[in-house]
Amino acid sequence: MNDMYKNFGIDGTVAGFCGDVIDGLRGRFDAIDQIAEYNQYKVLAAMQKNKVSAACLSGTTGYGYNDIGRDTLEAVYADTFHTEAALVRPQITCGTHALAVALSANLLPGDELLSPVGRPYDTLQEVIGIRPSPCSLAEYGVTYNEVELLDDGSFDYDGIRAAINDRTKLVTIQRSKGYSMRPTLSVERIGELIAFIKSIKSDIICMVDNCYGEFVEKVEPSDVGADMTVGSLIKNPGGGLAPIGGYICGTKKCIERCASRLSAPGLGQEVGASLDVMVSLYEGFFLAPTVVAGALKGAIFAANIYERLGFHVVPSGHEPRYDIIQSVELGSAEKMVAFCKGIQGAAPVDSYVTPVPYAMPGYNCDVIMAAGSFIQGASIELSADGPMRDPYAIYFQGGLTWNHAKIGIMKSLQCLVDGEFVKL
Ligand SMILES: *Cc1c(COP(=O)(O)O)cnc(C)c1O
Repeated sequence: MNDMYKNFGIDGTVAGFCGDVIDGLRGRFDAIDQIAEYNQYKVLAAMQKNKVSAACLSGTTGYGYNDIGRDTLEAVYADTFHTEAALVRPQITCGTHALAVALSANLLPGDELLSPVGRPYDTLQEVIGIRPSPCSLAEYGVTYNEVELLDDGSFDYDGIRAAINDRTKLVTIQRSKGYSMRPTLSVERIGELIAFIKSIKSDIICMVDNCYGEFVEKVEPSDVGADMTVGSLIKNPGGGLAPIGGYICGTKKCIERCASRLSAPGLGQEVGASLDVMVSLYEGFFLAPTVVAGALKGAIFAANIYERLGFHVVPSGHEPRYDIIQSVELGSAEKMVAFCKGIQGAAPVDSYVTPVPYAMPGYNCDVIMAAGSFIQGASIELSADGPMRDPYAIYFQGGLTWNHAKIGIMKSLQCLVDGEFVKL
């Protein structure tokens, strides 16, 4: 192995340091494998129950009427997430689009949207109209309110109670931390929050942004009362194979409205050709529990490496995990660039490219992104990104296999050592 490392530009000191860290993680890795096995069974059972067949794997064109592959995949998602219905489509372009569909389908002029977990993910801010944008919910007369988490990361129950009013129609709960340093919410905590909200006003629709959380635990937000659970297929549930798409799993009532918003009133879920992507969507979902397990091991490895070097990491090296994101507060733009250079240098695609910070649609400052992925921008693949602003935190995620995540982290460390930003 040492020769392989050397060929890859990783010196003996870095390899030794990383090997020591991994030796301490075996027990946690076993626990992750057990969750993957449980979730593998869940997905397999849903596929068998819905009689996935060869006919499901070939797509349709045009209107896509009676598309058995599409309809069966939606049933498989609904059964895996234990919901009445699901909308799983390649026509949903990304996670932000899935969330925008779920919100705009279920909020009408005069309604209020509440986020009880602080400000949502950057791209959602324009969807809501926190930052003005054409066609935002604000333009359509939907108001917005938010309640921050308390300093210790707990819910501000008094603040939430005070924020709920007659017009509060929908509550959005982001499971993952996004580009912030707050803790990711466990499914159990999400369940407590939903129960509290419904105890105040039982007809509030609770939506969970489940991005990066799928298959990390044995349960999903839909198991603890969420009316809509939403995510991207180029993250966890696509298993690295889905080339595009998003999903919304939830109540029949909510999903029917989402389908009408996505296509057109009157057309709903009946149209939408699946083209050539069905095999990737099924196979990716089938692999997703294992792929997520590999990504989780990578995240824990990264946390332990950088924590040992004195950096503030969220979550810490020993905390339980509720998503696949690992943030490392590097503290300077130069260190972020060096870290990303390492991740990019370990990629199977575009490894010769040097990542540089750049303006991105939906973000209010320059963002650096390292990703040499088979599917453009797929962050279930080995990737790192972060906004170029204080505290200069990098967000690392993905890796289609644990071995690849490991190489990426080792390369990132090597780049920081080479730049004399850290000393082992
Ligand atoms: C990735 C992500 C989204 C959606 O982002 P897209 O890039 O549009 O897929 C939304 N919320 C969170 C928390 C995310 O991590």
